[in-house]
Amino acid sequence: LPAPQYPWLEGLNPPQREAVLTTEGPVLVLAGAGTGKTAALTARLAHIIAERLAWPSEILAVTFTNKAAREMKERMGRMIGDAVEGMPWLGTFHSIGAKMLRRHAELLGLKSNFTIIDTDDQLRLLKQLIEAANLDEKRWPARSLAGLIDKWKNKGLTPTDLDAGESALYADGKGQAMYTVYQARLRELNACDFGDLLLHNLTLLKNHRDVLEEYQEKFKYILVDEYQDTNAVQYLWLRLLAQKRKNIACVGDDDQSIYSWRGAEVANILRFEKDFPGAKIVRLEQNYRSTPHILAAASGLIAANSGRLGKTLWTDLDSGEKVRILGVWDGPEEARRIGDEIEELQYKKVSLNDIAILVRAQFQTREFEDRFIQIGLNYKIIGGFRFYERAEIRDAIAYLRVINQPADDLAFERIVNTPKRGIGDKAVEKIHRVARAERAPLSVAAARIIGTDELTGKARKSLSDLVIDIARWRDSATTLPPSALTELVLEDSGYTAMLQAERSVEASGRLDNLKELVRAMEEYESLGDFLEHVSLVMDNDANAQDEAVTIMTIHAAKGLEFNHVFCAGWEDGVFPSQRAMDEGGLASVEEERRLAYVAITRAREKCTITHAANRRIYGQWTSSIPSRFIDELPAEHVENEQTMTGGASLWRANWSERADPFAHLAAANATRAGARGPGWQRAATSGGFNPVPSRVQEASKPAVGLGAQGRTDLAI
Ligand code: ATP
Ligand code: MG
Repeated sequence: LPAPQYPWLEGLNPPQREAVLTTEGPVLVLAGAGTGKTAALTARLAHIIAERLAWPSEILAVTFTNKAAREMKERMGRMIGDAVEGMPWLGTFHSIGAKMLRRHAELLGLKSNFTIIDTDDQLRLLKQLIEAANLDEKRWPARSLAGLIDKWKNKGLTPTDLDAGESALYADGKGQAMYTVYQARLRELNACDFGDLLLHNLTLLKNHRDVLEEYQEKFKYILVDEYQDTNAVQYLWLRLLAQKRKNIACVGDDDQSIYSWRGAEVANILRFEKDFPGAKIVRLEQNYRSTPHILAAASGLIAANSGRLGKTLWTDLDSGEKVRILGVWDGPEEARRIGDEIEELQYKKVSLNDIAILVRAQFQTREFEDRFIQIGLNYKIIGGFRFYERAEIRDAIAYLRVINQPADDLAFERIVNTPKRGIGDKAVEKIHRVARAERAPLSVAAARIIGTDELTGKARKSLSDLVIDIARWRDSATTLPPSALTELVLEDSGYTAMLQAERSVEASGRLDNLKELVRAMEEYESLGDFLEHVSLVMDNDANAQDEAVTIMTIHAAKGLEFNHVFCAGWEDGVFPSQRAMDEGGLASVEEERRLAYVAITRAREKCTITHAANRRIYGQWTSSIPSRFIDELPAEHVENEQTMTGGASLWRANWSERADPFAHLAAANATRAGARGPGWQRAATSGGFNPVPSRVQEASKPAVGLGAQGRTDLAI
C-alpha cells in the first residue's frame, strides 16, 4: 500500500487504508468495536471527494443517527477543508429516503410537499380506520396494527405483498385490508409515515426503470455505517442502488447487532457477499478505544454467543484497570455510589462530558436523575426525555396535582379526557365557559356543569364519574401514602388499562415508567412533598453549555465512546430484560448479550458494572440476582467489590439451582473460556472468518414486541 501521501490517511493502519483506498468494487469492513470502522469510513468519504473521484452530490453515505451524520460531516471537513463544493447525500436512511421521495412524489401519488406523520398521528388515523371498519378497537388495538404495519414496511412488503399468514395477524385476517385502506388514506392526506420513507422508495425504484437508472448512474459511491443493523427494506434499497456500479462500502460488526426488534437482520452481512460476488472483505483487528482488560472482558462475554462470524481483537494500549463489578444493596445506593464516584472523578479534573451511565431501559434513569438533582450534578439524557418530562409521568402527575390542588386548571385540562372518555373539545369549552362566568377553577366548574343540562349523553356521564372519582381520591389522599394513592388513581382512572390494551413495546416501557414513579414516591410522606420535589426537578434544566454526565440507554450509545462508563442495573430481569428471559429463545438472550458487549466497549479507560441486591417494587423489597452476564465475564479481567453484606456471589449461589434454560450455554462458555489459553496477550477471542452456521439467521429474526405485559423493556 502506498505511504500516506494523503493527509486523511495519516494515522490509519494498513487495513484501514485498504478500506479507504479500495474505492472500486464492493467492500465489506467487518470488525469489532472500537477498531476504527467509522474513522475509516469517514476517511474514505474524504478521499473520494478530495481525489475528485466523484462530486459530493454523487455520493450516498448512510449513518445510523442524525448526530452521527453531523459528526461525519465535521470530521470530513477537518480532513479536507471546507472548500468542498456541494454536499454528499449524507444522513440516516430516513432522511435520505425523504429527500429522494420528495423528488419523485408524484410517481407514488403524492405531492412533493407531503407531510411526514409521527406515531401519534399514525395511531389517531388507524383508530379512525378501525372504527370505520366496525372493528372493536379494544380487541384489536391501533397500536398492534401500527406495530404490524411497521414490521411489514421494514420487510419491504406493500399491502399486495402480504400472504394470508401475515394478514391473519390482525383481526382474524383483516390485516391486509386494513393496511390497504391505511395506505390509501395516507395518500389522500398527502402524507407518509416513517416506514413509507423507504418502502415508497423501493416501490419507486422497482416500478420505474428510468428513475432507477438515473440513481444507479448518479451515486458513484455508496457508504454505510452500522451495517449490521440494516433491515430488509434498507438492504433491498441499497442493493438496487448499488447494482450497476457496485461501489458500495459497508462497515459493521455482527456482535453489535441490537435492533432485531426493529427488523434489523444480521443476515444482511452474509447476503452481501452473495449479492456482490468478489466483495473485498477487510478485517480490522486493532482496537484503539479500550484498555486490554475492558476489551478482554467484552470479548470473553460475547464468546458465549453462538453463530458469530468470529473476530480477532487486540490492543497495544497500557493494560489499565480491570472492569469493576460493584455490588450494592439497593437502587438508591447504586445512584448514591455512582454519584459519589462521579464527584470524585470531577475532583480529579475529569470532565463530566467524559462520563456516561448506560442503562438497559428508560425507567432506570429516574433514580440517577433524582440523586443528581439532589447533589447538584449536571446531567443530560440522550435519546429520550428526562424522567419527569415523559408523557405518561406528566399525565400521572397531573392527576395528582388536581387531587392536591383543585385550582390547578392546567393539570385538569391535561387529564379531563386522558384516557379518552368521551369528553371532547366542545365539552371542555363549555366547562371553560362556566368557569369564566363563575370565576371558578375548571374542576369546580365541572362539578357545577354536571348538575345542568349543558352536557348530555356520554360526556355528561363521564364527567360526572370523573368528578366523583376526584372527590374520592381526595378523600383517600388523607389516609393513603402517596405511592398507594397513585396506584389507585392510575387503576381507577383507566390509565393503566389504556396502556395495557396497547400491547406494544412502547406501552410496556411506559408501564414500567409508571411503576418507577410509584417506587419514587415511596420516599415521600405526603403528596404535597412529592409534588414540591417534582416542580423543583422540572425547574432544574441543566445549562446546555455546561459539562454534563450523559445518561442513556445502551441502544442510544451505539458508536459512541467515553473515558468512564458506568453500566447500571446488571441484574437478571433488568438486564437481560424480563421480556428477553420470558421469551426464552436463545435469540433474545443473545441479543441482550450483544447489548452488554456494546455497553462495555463504549468505555475507553474505566468500566464499572453495578448490580443491586434489592429493588423495591410497590413498597416490597424484592431480592434480585446479578445478571448472568456478570458471571460470563472472564474472571482474570474483572475485580469484584461489594458494599453489602453477603455479597452478590452468595446471591448467585443461592439461585444456582433454579431451572436455567441457558445452562448449556454457560457450560459451553466455560469450556471455551478454558480453551482460550493463557492470559490476555494479543489474544484471539475466537476463530477467523468462518463460514457462518445457519443459526445466525435464527438469531437475527426480529423479536416483535407484542409480548408480556408490564415487563421491563427498552424504550430508546
Ligand atoms: P464502533 O464499533 O463502536 O462503532 P468503530 O469501529 O466505528 O467503533 P471508531 O469510533 O471509528 O471505531 O474508532 C474508535 C476510536 O479509535 C476513536 O477514538 C478513533 O478516533 C480511534 N482510532 C480509529 N482509528 C485509529 C488509528 N488508526 N489510530 C489511532 N486511533 C484510531
Ligand atoms: Mg462506529
